[in-house]
Amino acid sequence: MAPMLRLYNTLSGAKEAFAPIDPAHVRMYACGPTVYDAAHIGNARPIIVFDLLFRLLRHLYGPAHVTYARNVTDVDDKINARAAERGITIRQLTDGTLAQFHRDIRDLGVLMPEDVNVPGERPRFVEPRATDHIAEMVAMIEALIRSGHAYVAEGHVLFDVPAMPDYGRLSKRPLDEMEAGARVEVAPYKRSPLDFVLWKPSKPGEPSWPSPAGIAAPGRPGWHIECSAMSAKHLGQTFDIHAGGIDLIFPHHENEVAQSRCCFGTPVMANVWLHNGFLQVEGEKMSKSLGNFITIRDVLNDWPGEVVRLTMLKTHYRQPIDWTLQSLQESDRVLNRWYNVVGDHPADGNLPDDFVEALCDDLNTPAAIGELHRLSSSGKLGTFQPGHSRFGQEAQPAALRAGANLLGLLGQTRTERESSQVAASGIDVSAVETLIAERRAARAAKDWTASDRARDALAALGVAVKDNKDGTTTWTVTR
Ligand code: AMP
Ligand code: ZN
Repeated sequence: MAPMLRLYNTLSGAKEAFAPIDPAHVRMYACGPTVYDAAHIGNARPIIVFDLLFRLLRHLYGPAHVTYARNVTDVDDKINARAAERGITIRQLTDGTLAQFHRDIRDLGVLMPEDVNVPGERPRFVEPRATDHIAEMVAMIEALIRSGHAYVAEGHVLFDVPAMPDYGRLSKRPLDEMEAGARVEVAPYKRSPLDFVLWKPSKPGEPSWPSPAGIAAPGRPGWHIECSAMSAKHLGQTFDIHAGGIDLIFPHHENEVAQSRCCFGTPVMANVWLHNGFLQVEGEKMSKSLGNFITIRDVLNDWPGEVVRLTMLKTHYRQPIDWTLQSLQESDRVLNRWYNVVGDHPADGNLPDDFVEALCDDLNTPAAIGELHRLSSSGKLGTFQPGHSRFGQEAQPAALRAGANLLGLLGQTRTERESSQVAASGIDVSAVETLIAERRAARAAKDWTASDRARDALAALGVAVKDNKDGTTTWTVTR
């Protein structure tokens, strides 16, 4: 029997058995990037974690039975400001930033729409852009005005928060408490300080679209309405999973819920709400505004994508991660060890049960990686522990590769990896082979000084040599 997936749901505050609305079509949404600047490594966390959830759902329900939507926010104040600063059009800025984002996350082993979509079939992965969904947003806003959940004031449309009695359910902030604590100074056009913008006027030079009925001047949408419109269009009015970083619970997700439920008259927007914890630097959230960030590309300039991905997945997604050099170094060593075990062995398609069960326990990646460690080690004499049933086991390369592949790791054979390392290092292969031949000749002549000299020259090139039992010499790139 397939293992039962359990997920921690922010809405209920508990870990629950996952029961899709339609097991033949599981639907998940994750809030994607605002494309005004290069993404930092903290932004990569939700992308990697929810990519893993997508992979797991595909494994459990079948690739044709899951749809994932991850949006792109390409209309925003920061985008307008940055484009003006750089003297380029908004579309040039957002297209360029999005292309960079795609290169970054592809190098982190994240599945892309083109990897999973099958022409002529229902989309499995969509990446909707906000500016392609303005008509859907306007239609939702007009419906909210008609039903008395939103009002027009000074060229804006505002969501009337006090008109929704259970506003605050997701973030566990009761409406009356929020009203009591609200700031007194608010924009004059707001009826309540809690009301949020669905639509606003555009300033000269800003992008604009025809406004909802009742507003003559053109304008542009607020941030929250984008996700309500795009999720409804691609996944339906109610869907299974909605995901994002923990900082999005309030106000972004709370407001998405308010808009979607009030517009469609539904009891929930998504059944399960998942939130990843922060990636931190010295105990503080990595963020653009604090200036303590490193971009994904900075990290990828120093480390292979798989090392970065494993470093991210070693911590459970709801826990904070402290991003350290030491953790990257450790992941690098682990991957070297695993590649040595799997060699050029293909995955045999059989995923180890304990591994899948760990992932099904609210994506317990530390436990799943622990299983991979077990599969990678042959129980050696002296490692016996009473009650340890795996004493004496052989390493299991095929199972190790199958499990690691589900995590988006060990995507190459060892030979392919070594060639890509050599290519990336810029090492002159013929110089290496010449030195190895010199060393072999020196050793045959028992000229140890010459042999050491050749070895040192190889080390200086960043190459380590290994003499094998069968008399051959192999070499690897050292960092
Ligand atoms: P932003 O660009 O701030 O809108 O963030 C885009 C996505 O990255 C959102 O899902 C955020 O929750 C997430 N995010 C931003 N900073 C971090 C961080 N330091 N750690 C984890 N997730 C983050
Ligand atoms: Zn969103």
